[in-house]
Amino acid sequence: MKIDHLETITLRFEYADGFRYAGGQCTARVTSLVLVHTDSGAVGIGAAYSHPGLVHLIVQEQLAPLLIGENPTDVEAIWQKMYRITRWYGRKGVAMSAIGAIDTACWDLRGKSLGKPVWELLGGQRITCPAYASALLWKEPAALAEEAARLIDRGFRRVKMRLGYGGDADRAAVRAVREAIGPNNDVMCDGSMRYSLEDATTLAEFLAENNVFWFEEPFEPEDIDSYVALSSRASPPLAAGENEFGLQGFRELIRAGALDIVQPDVSRCGGITEAKRVADLALTAGLRVAPHSWSDAVAITANAHVVAALPHGITVEVDQTGNPFVEELLVEPLTVRDGHLTLSKAPGLGIELNPATLNRYRLNDPLHHICRTARTPT
Ligand SMILES: [Mg+2]
Repeated sequence: MKIDHLETITLRFEYADGFRYAGGQCTARVTSLVLVHTDSGAVGIGAAYSHPGLVHLIVQEQLAPLLIGENPTDVEAIWQKMYRITRWYGRKGVAMSAIGAIDTACWDLRGKSLGKPVWELLGGQRITCPAYASALLWKEPAALAEEAARLIDRGFRRVKMRLGYGGDADRAAVRAVREAIGPNNDVMCDGSMRYSLEDATTLAEFLAENNVFWFEEPFEPEDIDSYVALSSRASPPLAAGENEFGLQGFRELIRAGALDIVQPDVSRCGGITEAKRVADLALTAGLRVAPHSWSDAVAITANAHVVAALPHGITVEVDQTGNPFVEELLVEPLTVRDGHLTLSKAPGLGIELNPATLNRYRLNDPLHHICRTARTPT
């Protein structure tokens, strides 16, 4: 099997109303899919969550000429080849996300050529993966309570809410969700990088008292010292990683003792190959893994394959904000029952893209799309 060509598909969706969070108002969503077409007719599917124009440029102008004619099932060799050629401007950010999309598509093809699902190739023993609802953006407490109860009714057992309101409003929001979901379900809190060490320390005590499952990204990703300081104080487990890239970036966080839960995202940090390396490193440090996933159903599925293969994999994130790239992108939509996503036994990632969704949201000129209104990772 040889790579024939690479196809990038940029998707963009505008909300009727959008939602508010600590970073502002979100009015639209974007994501990039990368298809690896082969001479055998088999097609591998991957996703990148980054600036869509730059993903398109790097995939088509830099990586495609390098990969055409290569055997896509040589996944690790292809990863090294892509990393070496992008290192001088890559290492973190969009180049790693573009590499990751191709890497994920190559894993899909490796599975298809061997007749096995990716989770099994990664050493997994279970076809199901715990999954949590990612939603509960900025609203009044009563509306948050109503939404949280609805998510539990939908089959989730864990929900993630956004904080960053500050002061008493944070507390009122957490109390409302905690009461709505009851003591037998879990709530996680995302700080959206909006806290000082002092404010996060005070809030973390309250979150611990309310049995919050993890406290995510209270600080900006560069502020490793604050993560280290907070991790030694009374707090729920500290989680971060959606804004980190590559094994070396995660190694820095892990070595510093900054985190309890590591959140690599296959569609951002460098693909299935790199997410698995990060997860293996986390295991040696006694940490747990819960990938970030916010962009589309391909990314969620790829992250779920990794989690399903990990003894220390906790759960995967499933966007519940009404994102069509989560709900309508696959012929067989993702379903969560009793807090678990069931993966497919079909070879590779076991997914098929819905052509009607691609046609409806496809952006023909990703290079000239400006991400002013696009969602930042959360
Ligand atoms: Mg987040």
